[in-house]
Amino acid sequence: MSERDLIRDYFAALGARRADVLCGIGDDCALLAVPPDRQLAISIDTLVAGVHFFADCNPQALGHKSLAVGLSDLAAMGAEPAWATLALTLPESDPDWLAGFARGLGELATAHGVQLVGGDTTRGPLTVSIQVHGLVAPGLAVTRAGARPGDLVCVSGTVGDAGLALRQLAAGEAPSATLRRRLERPEPRVALGRRLAGLASAMIDCSDGLAGDLGHILAASGVGADLELAALPLGPEVAAVVAASGDWGLPLASGDDYELCFTIPAARRTELEARSTPDCPVTLIGQITAAPGLRCRGPDGDLWPLARSGYDHFAP
Ligand code: ADP
Ligand code: MG
Repeated sequence: MSERDLIRDYFAALGARRADVLCGIGDDCALLAVPPDRQLAISIDTLVAGVHFFADCNPQALGHKSLAVGLSDLAAMGAEPAWATLALTLPESDPDWLAGFARGLGELATAHGVQLVGGDTTRGPLTVSIQVHGLVAPGLAVTRAGARPGDLVCVSGTVGDAGLALRQLAAGEAPSATLRRRLERPEPRVALGRRLAGLASAMIDCSDGLAGDLGHILAASGVGADLELAALPLGPEVAAVVAASGDWGLPLASGDDYELCFTIPAARRTELEARSTPDCPVTLIGQITAAPGLRCRGPDGDLWPLARSGYDHFAP
């Protein structure tokens, strides 16, 4: 299969068909009509075999997750997804693998109204880079820097599920279907992120672990926070591990959940209920303080020592 055939067969018609794509795959550049009353939100993520995923993992799940991590970044900004570009490095052109990858990527793209508008294809160690482009009204994007003392700290969904699945896989155990889905097919919280634009004072998506990601909000905002560990939203399996081990490290420091962690002014607490939906609950877990640092108080009132916060690719 030639590079041209590969692009034509698997990627040329991937995702939604958008009227604002004036020129898509096939020319030197994509040409996109950005509405005059919108700002462009852009994020790129790279997934490397052996670092971010197992090289023999299901290609459809990989296609899904490669886009999901980018859509999660758009969600954390309150932006509406629009376009994506894909830089794909493959060791070989395996039609079955490509079909699965394109299906996983295409289904998630279509579900979120995203059109694949370009990319690059090269041979080498399996690596997937996706850049996502979203739209947000001026002034409504939610950064990490807006948290103020007294604001409430919230998180969507449940935390620690993907980390538990990873821990079980590493131990040679088979995670439940629910946990495996949370690890391999994260659902980016795009709808919630857009509903929070204009309400949240700061927001981030939890890719490296709740404590570390909230730490980024605290650093950017120049504030601290008190968290109530008993308030953390846990699925039944993570709750059982925490109850048996007394170890809060799983929900606090394991990554890959792709939930949204955000802050809102306390006076606007009632508006939160209207933004929370049954399929994506939102839980109040703490409060922003003027004093810097993150303090996590356990059910017994003791402070939980935070060992490591987040994954660092270049940590010694
Ligand atoms: P150029 O040499 O000008 O960079 P390419 O041959 O790399 O062009 O790409 C041809 C067209 O196919 C371009 O529009 C490019 O954006 C698109 N393309 C290449 N690889 C991919 C891919 N993996 N996914 C989506 N579009 C791709
Ligand atoms: Mg090229």
